[in-house]
Amino acid sequence: MAIIAALAVALTVAGPPSPASAKVPTAAKRWSSLMYHSLTPTKEYVALRKKLASQRITMAKRAERVPVREAEHEAAQTAVTKAVTADAGPRTRYALAREELASARNRLTVATQLRPKNAAAVTAARNAVTAAAETASARRKEAATAAAALKTAQATARTATVELDKSITALETSKKAVQTNQRRLKALDKSAELRADAAATSRDVVTAVRGKFAVADTTTVNGIRVHRSVAFAFRRMLSDAKADGVVLSGGGFRTKKRQIELRKINGCPDIWTAPASSCRVPTAIPGRSLHELGLAIDITSGGRTLTRDSAGFAWLDEHAHKYGFVNLPSEAWHWSITGG
Ligand SMILES: [Zn+2]
Repeated sequence: MAIIAALAVALTVAGPPSPASAKVPTAAKRWSSLMYHSLTPTKEYVALRKKLASQRITMAKRAERVPVREAEHEAAQTAVTKAVTADAGPRTRYALAREELASARNRLTVATQLRPKNAAAVTAARNAVTAAAETASARRKEAATAAAALKTAQATARTATVELDKSITALETSKKAVQTNQRRLKALDKSAELRADAAATSRDVVTAVRGKFAVADTTTVNGIRVHRSVAFAFRRMLSDAKADGVVLSGGGFRTKKRQIELRKINGCPDIWTAPASSCRVPTAIPGRSLHELGLAIDITSGGRTLTRDSAGFAWLDEHAHKYGFVNLPSEAWHWSITGG
């Protein structure tokens, strides 16, 4: 049922509805609907694609942050190493100063207990204790300063480690989110299946259209007359090519009368039986050409018929299948829904 609902959209886009469009056979309507869906992503797909794009931006920013955090981490580690070295000297000198103070105190005790008393020796020993105490106090301050600097460097290093870990975790989280949504997006993309379904019916479409064909079932796309059922896909193909810098034009539908004329113009040995390849320019037998149904288009670019080495052909060779168009290998310019 969704297919029928969407068909209304596809045919509206293809051109104004007319009573004659009711003649478009079911097979052609189905082809048109499948291609419409193939070329029109669902809301869910569009939303997820948008989300994924923003997640990729976040991931890129996070990826840039990790090396910055690594550099900060390394600098902090270097600062700790330096602070450890800078701390060793003052620590040793402070220990020596304390030993010296303890020795001076011992010498003062000995001098005090000396009998007979030697006042000069006691005074000298006491002065030595005062001097050693002053030195020890100064060394203690130096050691405390170095120890504080080491502590600060260690705290900075711990923070840098935490920040580095955080940045790595954030990047991993982003990578997983992107991978998950890439998979989800791929699963939501049914365009290839839909166009494969359409391609599988293209021969039936030709047969069905040939049985009921009316000129009123054709419409123009950028001045090219084609069957309504292929108009949406064909219009998209032309606009997407243009967006890639490849401007395509050409001729689609032609009457049987014109086909007969072309058989003469193109020097076919006869009108009704000689194979297309026997003409100067390959020209199908009247009644067999898909041009007579608007289901084939001879493509030109820049006013020139496409050749295999043209930019237009290269673009179509890569992209036309997405719009349901196939090339007839013997004619680089001829594209149709069956390749015939
Ligand atoms: Zn052709």
